[in-house]
Amino acid sequence: MKLISLGAGEEVGRSAFVLEEGHKNVLLDYGLKIHSNTMKNEEDTFPIPFANFNIKPNLTLISHSHLDHIGYLPSLFKKGDMQWYATPPTVDIGEVLWNDTMKLAKMQNKRIPFTNSLVEKAKMHWHPIVYNQEVYNQGIKFSFHDAGHILGSSSIRMDFGNKKVIYSGDYKGSETALHAPLKHPGESDIVITEGTYWEKDHQPRKEAEMMLMDHIHETLDNGGNVLIPAFAIGRTQEMITIIKKYDKNIPVYVDGMGKQITKIYDKYPNYLKDFESFASAVDQCKLVEGSRARKKASNQGNVIVSTAGMLEGGPALQYINQMPPNSKIILTGFQVEGSNGRYLLDDGKIKNEMGTGFLNVDIEVEYIDFSAHAGKSELIDFVKRTNAQKVVVVHSDHAKEFAQNLKDEEGMDAVSIKSGEMMEI
Ligand SMILES: [Zn+2]
Ligand SMILES: [Zn+2]
Repeated sequence: MKLISLGAGEEVGRSAFVLEEGHKNVLLDYGLKIHSNTMKNEEDTFPIPFANFNIKPNLTLISHSHLDHIGYLPSLFKKGDMQWYATPPTVDIGEVLWNDTMKLAKMQNKRIPFTNSLVEKAKMHWHPIVYNQEVYNQGIKFSFHDAGHILGSSSIRMDFGNKKVIYSGDYKGSETALHAPLKHPGESDIVITEGTYWEKDHQPRKEAEMMLMDHIHETLDNGGNVLIPAFAIGRTQEMITIIKKYDKNIPVYVDGMGKQITKIYDKYPNYLKDFESFASAVDQCKLVEGSRARKKASNQGNVIVSTAGMLEGGPALQYINQMPPNSKIILTGFQVEGSNGRYLLDDGKIKNEMGTGFLNVDIEVEYIDFSAHAGKSELIDFVKRTNAQKVVVVHSDHAKEFAQNLKDEEGMDAVSIKSGEMMEI
């Protein structure tokens, strides 16, 4: 069997893999790589073309709705049809991202990677799948399993030829306020696993939650505001659930794309661990619409949860300019090199609007690790439980090192694959 990486080999972003044996093939994920909210480098924004490998997949399985896994999917329908499977929340969230991508490309005068009509066509060819449902298509048997990463996220298990293959997607092995730990997809011959954070374990969630609440209480007691720039998918919803779980009296405002995604989360009770507590948190939050409401939300004593998580665009940036003294900014996710969030953490500054220089930010900044990915021991545990003879590490800037580590420390037959590479597995 051949594995081809069209992206997310020894990198994070533009996940796209093809498994091929004889006449059978399947495309796993089809995402974009967006650098700090801009499509800077056309070269590695999109997956490597199928033509380079002379392949034409006609079945696609999408693990989850992050841009780097679903972002380029509509482009597959330029030349005809393609059957594709994903969970219902993945498609709802995916559509929001596709529309945002078209808008962003237009604003930045970039080539728009697909059109509205391709989005419509993609939706028409979608086959819904729910967790643990077994489907046969194109001679391949497959099922999706809750990956505990975001709403509707899945690890995919396939019977392909005479081999069992697991494609992990992105996953989390421990509990969060929204999701139970992943439901492991079982044993396989081959496992293709993400390895984003293989170097260390993340801070335990309970500890992170306590830290968050301590910072919020302390800041509000001192007469300031708390701004939590948060990713629209997952983190925004987790933050409001945590805050309302510990303290119902704290006024919480939600702004940015996170509002739209929150409404989608609210549609899917079965995909959350404790829908009641999430739904009641949403009821107690105020969704901010318009600049007047934004001003009101900036009053003392409030917590504002706003997109974007790395402070690249979105209303989060506007709030920074109008925060009262003694306020605090709490970053809760990974801040990529070159992003405003990274500049803020390291040097207390952000890029000016034109991107020609920097502005100093005179507000205290904290970072708390709320990662939605598995840390080292969860990754190793996932791989071990598959009992696979062959491990392929993908979706990591340090995939090579992680594969080496699995070889040296765990005695596994582990490899990494570069984007643009094909290997026999
Ligand atoms: Zn993801
Ligand atoms: Zn990812």
